[in-house]
Amino acid sequence: MMPRNRLRFTALLGFALAWLGAAPAASASPEFDRWLQAFRADARAAGVSEATLAAALDGLAPSARVIELDTAQPEFLSTFWQYYDRAVSPSRVDRGRELMARHAGLLSEIEAAYGVQPRFIVALWGLETNFGGFMGSFPVIEATATLAYEGRREALFRAQLLDALYLADQGDLRLEQMIGSWAGGMGHVQFIPSTYRAYAVDFDGDGRRDLYGSLADAFASAAHFLSQLGWRGDETWGRQVRVPSGFDWRLANSGTRLPLADWAAMGVTRWNGRPLPVIGDMQGRIVAPLGHRGPVFLGYGNYDAILGWNRSSFYAIAVGSLADQLVGAPPRTAPRPEIGPRLNARQVAEMQERLNRLGYDAGRVDGRTGSRTRAALRAYQAALNQPPDGYATEALLTQLRRDTAGR
Ligand code: CA
Repeated sequence: MMPRNRLRFTALLGFALAWLGAAPAASASPEFDRWLQAFRADARAAGVSEATLAAALDGLAPSARVIELDTAQPEFLSTFWQYYDRAVSPSRVDRGRELMARHAGLLSEIEAAYGVQPRFIVALWGLETNFGGFMGSFPVIEATATLAYEGRREALFRAQLLDALYLADQGDLRLEQMIGSWAGGMGHVQFIPSTYRAYAVDFDGDGRRDLYGSLADAFASAAHFLSQLGWRGDETWGRQVRVPSGFDWRLANSGTRLPLADWAAMGVTRWNGRPLPVIGDMQGRIVAPLGHRGPVFLGYGNYDAILGWNRSSFYAIAVGSLADQLVGAPPRTAPRPEIGPRLNARQVAEMQERLNRLGYDAGRVDGRTGSRTRAALRAYQAALNQPPDGYATEALLTQLRRDTAGR
């Protein structure tokens, strides 16, 4: 017979390890179990079957790794060119051209159905999973449950978890198939469950929307989602441009959309100096991912549609540039001035605090460069007689430290 003391000691040891954070991720957490029980009741009320609830949620535990990835604040952020060179590498361009040729028939059927040019579907596929080469390694139920329970974005991830259960319940995916990114992206084009549920289509007609096993479903779903985001099949995404000296940099990275004729009238040209094509009522916005010293882009309506897919200017420029190169555009040879790394969250917070101290309203000190922080930075740059591009550099932070010394 096992002495009761030993049992007690084992329990105590487990408790102590958990307390010290040394316990494995799968250790029982009464708080998580309570949360999961409440979620389960809601999912049941929302119509998810008992069989799916049991298969998906019995014994579920939060993932420490997912929480770690969600809360990580990297010390060093990749620069625009580091990101770009990985995203639009020569080998990815070659492979993309090969795959676009191989699937030309399917892609043109999808273009006819949804009005999205093949080069953009293949470019998104390349950016999302390296053409299906890596679709993620996290069980999506566990990842979305963890992020919902963690609470920072509970409403968003509670909805993702519920939609993931619906996808299993309605037969689109088997639970064990649902392996994806730590934030729940699934299949060839990394749809999160709510996007999957709302926009995935069964293009090959087998009765299931399978974005893992069917390229027809994956491509058509990407095209359908883009078309719902306002894609125009007779327009491109944007282009690299050149702006005149004396350009009003407050217009860059500000979301200001103007007719192409207005930009042309201001002296904006193609990057090689030739006139900007002005077509119909098309509008564009100026994007300068490295501020006034770096490359400048004019994003059209389709650029905004890509941002609807992923709210990152780096991502949208990479998708557009890869698409261009898939149909023969030369690699980008723009000058690459040494601008230094992007400021990390800690440095941005310091900048906000110092801007506020000087009376520029940078808003809440949260380490994120939002529109208010950018406006404060532009005003500070203008006061220094610098182009007000709102782009934060280490040099500006150094200047701010000087200007706030003793204040
Ligand atoms: Ca299908």
